[in-house]
Amino acid sequence: MANPSLQIYPGKGMTCVFSFPTALCELEPALDDARVTPGTDGCRPACRNIARTEENIDELRAEAAELRLIVADEASPKIRWGRERRRLAHLESLIAEHERGRPEGGTT
Ligand code: SF4
Repeated sequence: MANPSLQIYPGKGMTCVFSFPTALCELEPALDDARVTPGTDGCRPACRNIARTEENIDELRAEAAELRLIVADEASPKIRWGRERRRLAHLESLIAEHERGRPEGGTT
């Protein structure tokens, strides 16, 4: 994070380590402009520039905890339940992937 040669843009549950050749989002203002930046609001899950810090994973865990309450509510409308269940499964996958990638015994 302290490396000045990296262009880092924090987002919700993710951190963009920006490299325009591999960016999948809309870039602003344009590729031929030296001020080009990523559009983190339109971040694409498959982009190779995505990194996740422990803080990002904590954000995902908090969202997952809220979603677990929603999907456990049997009175929740079916359409909402399905949407939230899919989002929860995605978050759990990201969290598990992050935890598998940790060094043995490490917490970061
Ligand atoms: S898609 Fe996301 S990770 Fe990729 S460059 Fe854009 S904001 Fe960064």
